[in-house]
Amino acid sequence: MYFIPFTAVLPEIGQSETRSLRVPPNLEAPEGFYAFLEFYCIDPKCDCQLVRFMVMGDDDQRQALITYGWKSKLFTMKLFHHATTTFQVRILLF
Ligand SMILES: [Zn+2]
Repeated sequence: MYFIPFTAVLPEIGQSETRSLRVPPNLEAPEGFYAFLEFYCIDPKCDCQLVRFMVMGDDDQRQALITYGWKSKLFTMKLFHHATTTFQVRILLF
């Protein structure tokens, strides 16, 4: 897996489609402005079918990395079988 920013491939569309939000005070999430930068895998030998959203804060520091897969939970779990304690994987079911 080798991920690059969507804006590196299509800068104009990437910038216009980058989503952001402002969290108001007194919620569970820390107050502030957050931008969600999309990253896609460009490894031609990889079939991970994942997208990653790097969540950037007001201070341009990475706050979180969200990985989403289009395939099944089992398929995604196999991709992360090498997960370590420093790299936590949480799979959300919808
Ligand atoms: Zn991949």
